Amino acid sequence: MIAIAAPFLGQEEMDAVQEVLASGQLAQGPKVAALEEAFAAYCGTKYAVAVNSGTAALHASLFAAGIGPGDEVITTPFSFMATLNCILMVGAKPVLVDIDPITFNIDPAKVAEAITPKTKAIIPVDLYGQPYDYDALKAIADEHKLIIVEDACQAIGSSYNGKKAGTLGDLGCLSLYATKNIMAGEGGIVVTDNEAYAEAMKRFRQHGMGAQYEYVHLGYNYRMSDLHAAVGVEQLKKADTFNAARQKNAAALTKGLQGIKGLVLPQTAPNRTHVYNLYTVRITDEFGLSQQEVVDKLRAQGIGAGIYYPKPMYSYPHTASLGYKPGACPETEKACKQVVSLPVHPKLTDADIATMVAAIKGLAK
Ligand SMILES: *Cc1c(COP(=O)(O)O)cnc(C)c1O
Repeated sequence: MIAIAAPFLGQEEMDAVQEVLASGQLAQGPKVAALEEAFAAYCGTKYAVAVNSGTAALHASLFAAGIGPGDEVITTPFSFMATLNCILMVGAKPVLVDIDPITFNIDPAKVAEAITPKTKAIIPVDLYGQPYDYDALKAIADEHKLIIVEDACQAIGSSYNGKKAGTLGDLGCLSLYATKNIMAGEGGIVVTDNEAYAEAMKRFRQHGMGAQYEYVHLGYNYRMSDLHAAVGVEQLKKADTFNAARQKNAAALTKGLQGIKGLVLPQTAPNRTHVYNLYTVRITDEFGLSQQEVVDKLRAQGIGAGIYYPKPMYSYPHTASLGYKPGACPETEKACKQVVSLPVHPKLTDADIATMVAAIKGLAK
Protein backbone atom coordinates (compact mmCIF):
# COMPACT_ATOMS: atom_id res chain seq x y z
CA MET A 1 0.00 0.00 0.00
CA ILE A 2 1.27 3.47 -0.88
CA ALA A 3 0.12 5.21 2.31
CA ILE A 4 -1.38 8.72 2.32
CA ALA A 5 1.08 9.67 5.08
CA ALA A 6 4.21 8.01 6.42
CA PRO A 7 6.41 8.98 9.36
CA PHE A 8 10.01 9.69 8.38
CA LEU A 9 12.11 8.96 11.44
CA GLY A 10 15.85 8.36 11.54
CA GLN A 11 18.54 7.39 13.99
CA GLU A 12 18.64 11.00 15.22
CA GLU A 13 15.10 10.75 16.61
CA MET A 14 15.86 7.36 18.20
CA ASP A 15 19.00 8.70 19.85
CA ALA A 16 17.23 11.83 21.10
CA VAL A 17 14.43 9.78 22.71
CA GLN A 18 17.00 7.43 24.21
CA GLU A 19 18.76 10.41 25.73
CA VAL A 20 15.54 11.63 27.34
CA LEU A 21 14.74 8.17 28.70
CA ALA A 22 18.23 7.87 30.15
CA SER A 23 17.90 11.29 31.80
CA GLY A 24 14.78 10.27 33.70
CA GLN A 25 13.25 13.68 32.90
CA LEU A 26 10.31 12.70 30.70
CA ALA A 27 7.79 15.45 31.42
CA GLN A 28 8.10 19.05 30.15
CA GLY A 29 11.70 20.10 30.66
CA PRO A 30 14.85 21.06 28.73
CA LYS A 31 13.79 19.39 25.43
CA VAL A 32 10.55 21.37 25.37
CA ALA A 33 12.55 24.56 25.98
CA ALA A 34 14.95 23.59 23.15
CA LEU A 35 12.02 22.89 20.82
CA GLU A 36 10.48 26.28 21.58
CA GLU A 37 13.77 28.03 20.92
CA ALA A 38 14.22 26.14 17.64
CA PHE A 39 10.70 26.96 16.43
CA ALA A 40 11.04 30.65 17.27
CA ALA A 41 14.32 30.73 15.33
CA TYR A 42 12.89 28.78 12.39
CA CYS A 43 9.78 30.94 12.06
CA GLY A 44 11.53 34.18 13.03
CA THR A 45 9.26 35.02 15.97
CA LYS A 46 10.09 36.28 19.43
CA TYR A 47 8.21 33.45 21.16
CA ALA A 48 7.18 29.87 20.61
CA VAL A 49 5.05 27.99 23.13
CA ALA A 50 4.83 24.20 22.97
CA VAL A 51 1.65 22.33 23.90
CA ASN A 52 0.54 18.74 23.38
CA SER A 53 -1.50 19.13 20.16
CA GLY A 54 -2.36 21.52 17.38
CA THR A 55 -5.86 21.65 18.86
CA ALA A 56 -4.43 22.77 22.21
CA ALA A 57 -2.39 25.38 20.31
CA LEU A 58 -5.58 26.80 18.77
CA HIS A 59 -7.44 26.71 22.11
CA ALA A 60 -4.55 28.41 23.92
CA SER A 61 -4.29 31.06 21.18
CA LEU A 62 -7.96 32.02 21.40
CA PHE A 63 -7.72 32.11 25.19
CA ALA A 64 -4.61 34.32 25.09
CA ALA A 65 -6.30 36.65 22.61
CA GLY A 66 -9.11 37.11 25.12
CA ILE A 67 -11.84 35.56 23.01
CA GLY A 68 -14.87 34.19 24.82
CA PRO A 69 -18.64 34.19 25.16
CA GLY A 70 -20.35 36.93 23.14
CA ASP A 71 -17.53 37.10 20.58
CA GLU A 72 -17.73 35.96 16.99
CA VAL A 73 -14.80 34.29 15.24
CA ILE A 74 -14.80 33.94 11.46
CA THR A 75 -13.34 30.82 9.88
CA THR A 76 -13.72 28.39 6.98
CA PRO A 77 -16.05 25.37 7.03
CA PHE A 78 -13.56 23.44 4.86
CA SER A 79 -10.95 22.26 7.36
CA PHE A 80 -10.20 19.72 10.05
CA MET A 81 -12.76 20.00 12.86
CA ALA A 82 -10.19 21.38 15.35
CA THR A 83 -10.36 24.73 13.54
CA LEU A 84 -14.01 25.12 14.55
CA ASN A 85 -13.98 23.22 17.84
CA CYS A 86 -11.44 25.60 19.39
CA ILE A 87 -13.96 28.44 18.94
CA LEU A 88 -16.62 26.43 20.75
CA MET A 89 -14.08 25.53 23.46
CA VAL A 90 -13.74 29.19 24.47
CA GLY A 91 -17.52 29.72 24.29
CA ALA A 92 -17.42 32.03 21.26
CA LYS A 93 -19.59 31.80 18.14
CA PRO A 94 -18.10 30.40 14.93
CA VAL A 95 -19.07 32.31 11.79
CA LEU A 96 -18.33 30.23 8.71
CA VAL A 97 -17.61 31.74 5.31
CA ASP A 98 -16.92 30.08 2.01
CA ILE A 99 -13.59 29.26 0.34
CA ASP A 100 -11.82 30.34 -2.79
CA PRO A 101 -12.21 27.45 -5.27
CA ILE A 102 -8.60 27.62 -6.52
CA THR A 103 -6.70 27.55 -3.22
CA PHE A 104 -9.41 25.96 -1.02
CA ASN A 105 -8.59 28.67 1.55
CA ILE A 106 -10.95 31.22 3.11
CA ASP A 107 -12.21 33.86 0.66
CA PRO A 108 -11.28 37.33 2.04
CA ALA A 109 -14.18 39.02 0.21
CA LYS A 110 -16.64 36.76 2.04
CA VAL A 111 -14.90 37.46 5.35
CA ALA A 112 -15.48 41.19 4.84
CA GLU A 113 -19.21 40.55 4.36
CA ALA A 114 -19.47 38.49 7.56
CA ILE A 115 -17.99 41.04 9.97
CA THR A 116 -20.34 42.34 12.68
CA PRO A 117 -19.70 44.52 15.77
CA LYS A 118 -19.17 41.23 17.68
CA THR A 119 -16.41 39.92 15.42
CA LYS A 120 -13.16 39.64 17.32
CA ALA A 121 -10.92 37.31 15.36
CA ILE A 122 -10.40 35.40 12.12
CA ILE A 123 -8.91 31.91 11.83
CA PRO A 124 -7.60 31.41 8.29
CA VAL A 125 -6.31 27.92 7.53
CA ASP A 126 -3.28 27.21 5.31
CA LEU A 127 -5.05 24.21 3.84
CA TYR A 128 -3.04 21.31 2.41
CA GLY A 129 0.16 23.32 3.03
CA GLN A 130 -0.55 26.52 1.11
CA PRO A 131 -0.71 29.83 3.03
CA TYR A 132 -3.96 31.76 2.96
CA ASP A 133 -4.39 35.04 1.04
CA TYR A 134 -2.48 37.09 3.61
CA ASP A 135 -2.39 40.57 2.03
CA ALA A 136 -6.13 40.67 1.38
CA LEU A 137 -7.15 39.27 4.76
CA LYS A 138 -4.65 41.31 6.76
CA ALA A 139 -6.03 44.53 5.24
CA ILE A 140 -9.54 43.55 6.37
CA ALA A 141 -8.33 42.55 9.84
CA ASP A 142 -6.45 45.83 10.29
CA GLU A 143 -9.40 47.90 9.13
CA HIS A 144 -11.72 46.23 11.67
CA LYS A 145 -9.09 45.68 14.39
CA LEU A 146 -9.47 41.91 14.32
CA ILE A 147 -6.98 39.39 15.64
CA ILE A 148 -5.70 36.78 13.18
CA VAL A 149 -5.05 33.31 14.59
CA GLU A 150 -3.42 31.44 11.73
CA ASP A 151 -4.12 27.71 11.59
CA ALA A 152 -0.84 26.68 9.96
CA CYS A 153 -1.06 23.10 11.25
CA GLN A 154 -0.66 21.66 7.73
CA ALA A 155 1.85 24.23 6.53
CA ILE A 156 5.05 24.21 8.61
CA GLY A 157 7.79 25.71 6.42
CA SER A 158 5.64 27.24 3.69
CA SER A 159 5.76 31.00 3.21
CA TYR A 160 4.01 34.07 1.86
CA ASN A 161 6.29 36.71 0.34
CA GLY A 162 9.11 35.14 2.35
CA LYS A 163 7.19 35.25 5.66
CA LYS A 164 6.86 31.80 7.22
CA ALA A 165 3.50 30.14 7.80
CA GLY A 166 2.66 30.68 11.45
CA THR A 167 3.82 34.29 11.34
CA LEU A 168 0.98 35.39 9.03
CA GLY A 169 -1.14 36.66 11.90
CA ASP A 170 -0.97 37.62 15.57
CA LEU A 171 -0.64 34.00 16.66
CA GLY A 172 0.24 31.00 14.49
CA CYS A 173 -0.63 27.40 15.33
CA LEU A 174 1.45 24.46 14.16
CA SER A 175 0.85 20.75 14.70
CA LEU A 176 3.30 17.91 15.18
CA TYR A 177 0.66 15.21 14.76
CA ALA A 178 1.81 12.02 13.02
CA THR A 179 0.57 12.97 9.52
CA LYS A 180 1.98 16.50 9.37
CA ASN A 181 5.06 17.51 7.38
CA ILE A 182 7.16 17.12 10.50
CA MET A 183 5.87 15.26 13.51
CA ALA A 184 6.38 14.11 17.07
CA GLY A 185 3.48 11.65 17.20
CA GLU A 186 1.44 14.39 18.88
CA GLY A 187 2.31 18.00 19.62
CA GLY A 188 1.51 21.64 18.95
CA ILE A 189 3.33 24.96 18.83
CA VAL A 190 2.12 28.54 18.90
CA VAL A 191 4.45 31.18 17.50
CA THR A 192 3.91 34.87 18.24
CA ASP A 193 5.73 38.15 18.73
CA ASN A 194 3.39 39.15 21.55
CA GLU A 195 4.87 38.63 25.02
CA ALA A 196 1.56 38.87 26.89
CA TYR A 197 0.06 36.18 24.63
CA ALA A 198 3.09 33.93 25.15
CA GLU A 199 2.90 34.32 28.94
CA ALA A 200 -0.85 33.64 28.98
CA MET A 201 -0.37 30.45 26.94
CA LYS A 202 2.43 29.21 29.21
CA ARG A 203 0.01 29.54 32.13
CA PHE A 204 -2.90 28.11 30.16
CA ARG A 205 -1.04 24.86 29.43
CA GLN A 206 -0.50 24.41 33.15
CA HIS A 207 -3.89 25.04 34.82
CA GLY A 208 -3.45 28.80 34.65
CA MET A 209 -0.49 28.68 37.01
CA GLY A 210 1.81 31.71 37.15
CA ALA A 211 4.14 31.56 40.13
CA GLN A 212 4.24 28.16 41.90
CA TYR A 213 0.64 27.26 42.87
CA GLU A 214 -0.61 30.73 42.01
CA TYR A 215 -3.52 30.12 39.65
CA VAL A 216 -4.18 33.28 37.70
CA HIS A 217 -6.99 31.95 35.50
CA LEU A 218 -8.50 28.72 34.19
CA GLY A 219 -6.13 26.41 32.38
CA TYR A 220 -5.69 22.81 31.34
CA ASN A 221 -2.94 20.24 31.25
CA TYR A 222 -1.70 20.96 27.74
CA ARG A 223 1.99 20.36 28.49
CA MET A 224 4.17 18.61 25.95
CA SER A 225 6.48 15.85 27.20
CA ASP A 226 10.23 15.95 26.70
CA LEU A 227 9.96 12.63 24.84
CA HIS A 228 7.79 14.26 22.18
CA ALA A 229 9.87 17.44 22.15
CA ALA A 230 13.04 15.40 21.55
CA VAL A 231 11.49 13.96 18.39
CA GLY A 232 10.25 17.40 17.33
CA VAL A 233 13.69 18.99 17.67
CA GLU A 234 15.23 16.44 15.30
CA GLN A 235 12.32 16.63 12.87
CA LEU A 236 12.47 20.42 12.66
CA LYS A 237 16.09 20.16 11.49
CA LYS A 238 14.80 18.11 8.54
CA ALA A 239 11.72 20.23 7.74
CA ASP A 240 13.15 21.97 4.69
CA THR A 241 14.51 18.71 3.23
CA PHE A 242 11.17 16.97 3.75
CA ASN A 243 9.28 19.87 2.20
CA ALA A 244 11.60 19.97 -0.82
CA ALA A 245 10.90 16.26 -1.37
CA ARG A 246 7.14 16.90 -1.13
CA GLN A 247 7.44 19.72 -3.67
CA LYS A 248 9.43 17.50 -6.02
CA ASN A 249 6.83 14.72 -5.70
CA ALA A 250 4.01 17.21 -6.32
CA ALA A 251 5.76 18.51 -9.44
CA ALA A 252 6.18 14.95 -10.74
CA LEU A 253 2.49 14.17 -10.10
CA THR A 254 1.44 17.39 -11.83
CA LYS A 255 3.65 16.59 -14.82
CA GLY A 256 2.27 13.06 -15.06
CA LEU A 257 -1.39 13.97 -14.57
CA GLN A 258 -1.55 17.00 -16.84
CA GLY A 259 -4.28 17.14 -19.46
CA ILE A 260 -6.62 14.45 -18.10
CA LYS A 261 -10.23 15.43 -18.74
CA GLY A 262 -12.19 16.08 -15.55
CA LEU A 263 -9.11 16.15 -13.34
CA VAL A 264 -8.24 19.53 -11.81
CA LEU A 265 -4.71 19.66 -10.41
CA PRO A 266 -3.60 21.73 -7.38
CA GLN A 267 -2.41 25.26 -8.02
CA THR A 268 -0.18 27.54 -6.00
CA ALA A 269 -1.43 31.13 -5.89
CA PRO A 270 0.99 34.06 -6.38
CA ASN A 271 3.48 35.14 -3.67
CA ARG A 272 3.49 31.89 -1.78
CA THR A 273 5.08 28.47 -1.51
CA HIS A 274 3.11 25.25 -1.06
CA VAL A 275 4.54 22.48 1.11
CA TYR A 276 1.97 19.84 0.12
CA ASN A 277 0.88 18.22 3.31
CA LEU A 278 -1.63 16.81 0.84
CA TYR A 279 -1.69 16.79 -2.96
CA THR A 280 -5.36 17.38 -3.65
CA VAL A 281 -7.08 17.12 -7.01
CA ARG A 282 -10.72 17.67 -8.00
CA ILE A 283 -12.69 15.00 -9.80
CA THR A 284 -15.32 16.78 -11.92
CA ASP A 285 -18.27 15.25 -13.81
CA GLU A 286 -16.19 15.04 -16.99
CA PHE A 287 -13.89 12.48 -15.40
CA GLY A 288 -16.61 9.85 -15.66
CA LEU A 289 -16.27 8.43 -12.15
CA SER A 290 -17.42 9.87 -8.83
CA GLN A 291 -15.02 11.02 -6.14
CA GLN A 292 -15.81 7.93 -4.04
CA GLU A 293 -15.37 5.59 -7.01
CA VAL A 294 -11.94 7.08 -7.70
CA VAL A 295 -10.91 6.65 -4.06
CA ASP A 296 -12.20 3.06 -3.92
CA LYS A 297 -10.55 2.07 -7.18
CA LEU A 298 -7.22 3.62 -6.20
CA ARG A 299 -7.32 1.89 -2.82
CA ALA A 300 -8.08 -1.41 -4.53
CA GLN A 301 -4.84 -0.86 -6.47
CA GLY A 302 -2.87 -0.18 -3.29
CA ILE A 303 -2.90 3.61 -3.44
CA GLY A 304 -3.99 5.30 -0.22
CA ALA A 305 -6.14 8.09 -1.60
CA GLY A 306 -8.37 10.02 0.83
CA ILE A 307 -11.09 12.66 1.04
CA TYR A 308 -10.10 15.75 3.04
CA TYR A 309 -12.79 16.77 3.85
CA PRO A 310 -16.01 14.93 3.00
CA LYS A 311 -18.49 17.33 4.66
CA PRO A 312 -18.56 21.02 5.60
CA MET A 313 -17.84 21.50 9.29
CA TYR A 314 -21.38 22.84 9.78
CA SER A 315 -22.98 19.49 8.93
CA TYR A 316 -22.30 17.53 12.11
CA PRO A 317 -24.52 16.96 15.17
CA HIS A 318 -22.65 19.35 17.46
CA THR A 319 -22.51 22.13 14.84
CA ALA A 320 -26.08 21.81 13.51
CA SER A 321 -27.29 24.38 16.04
CA LEU A 322 -25.11 26.99 14.32
CA GLY A 323 -27.93 27.03 11.78
CA TYR A 324 -26.12 26.59 8.46
CA LYS A 325 -28.35 24.87 5.90
CA PRO A 326 -27.22 22.96 2.82
CA GLY A 327 -26.23 25.58 0.26
CA ALA A 328 -24.77 27.95 2.89
CA CYS A 329 -21.25 27.71 1.43
CA PRO A 330 -21.55 26.40 -2.14
CA GLU A 331 -17.84 26.32 -2.98
CA THR A 332 -17.13 24.31 0.17
CA GLU A 333 -19.96 21.89 -0.57
CA LYS A 334 -18.72 21.44 -4.12
CA ALA A 335 -15.14 20.85 -2.93
CA CYS A 336 -16.36 18.27 -0.41
CA LYS A 337 -17.89 16.29 -3.28
CA GLN A 338 -14.88 16.61 -5.62
CA VAL A 339 -11.60 16.52 -3.69
CA VAL A 340 -9.32 13.51 -3.66
CA SER A 341 -5.94 13.68 -1.94
CA LEU A 342 -3.05 11.55 -3.13
CA PRO A 343 0.12 10.47 -1.32
CA VAL A 344 2.89 13.06 -1.75
CA HIS A 345 5.07 12.41 1.31
CA PRO A 346 8.89 12.26 1.18
CA LYS A 347 9.08 8.47 1.38
CA LEU A 348 7.52 8.03 -2.07
CA THR A 349 9.79 6.57 -4.72
CA ASP A 350 9.78 7.45 -8.42
CA ALA A 351 8.18 4.05 -8.99
CA ASP A 352 5.37 4.91 -6.53
CA ILE A 353 4.67 8.10 -8.45
CA ALA A 354 4.70 6.26 -11.78
CA THR A 355 2.26 3.70 -10.30
CA MET A 356 -0.08 6.47 -9.17
CA VAL A 357 0.03 8.30 -12.49
CA ALA A 358 -0.63 5.08 -14.43
CA ALA A 359 -3.49 4.11 -12.10
CA ILE A 360 -5.25 7.46 -12.50
CA LYS A 361 -4.74 7.48 -16.28
CA GLY A 362 -6.26 4.01 -16.29
CA LEU A 363 -9.38 5.27 -14.50
CA ALA A 364 -9.87 8.26 -16.79
CA LYS A 365 -12.20 7.68 -19.71
C1 LIG B 1 -3.86 18.69 12.22
C2 LIG B 1 -4.67 19.92 12.22
C3 LIG B 1 -4.98 20.59 13.41
C4 LIG B 1 -4.53 20.16 14.77
O1 LIG B 1 -4.59 18.85 14.97
P1 LIG B 1 -3.94 18.05 16.21
O2 LIG B 1 -4.23 16.66 15.82
O3 LIG B 1 -4.68 18.50 17.41
O4 LIG B 1 -2.48 18.35 16.29
C5 LIG B 1 -5.70 21.76 13.30
N1 LIG B 1 -6.09 22.24 12.12
C6 LIG B 1 -5.80 21.63 10.97
C7 LIG B 1 -6.23 22.25 9.69
C8 LIG B 1 -5.09 20.43 10.98
O5 LIG B 1 -4.82 19.81 9.82
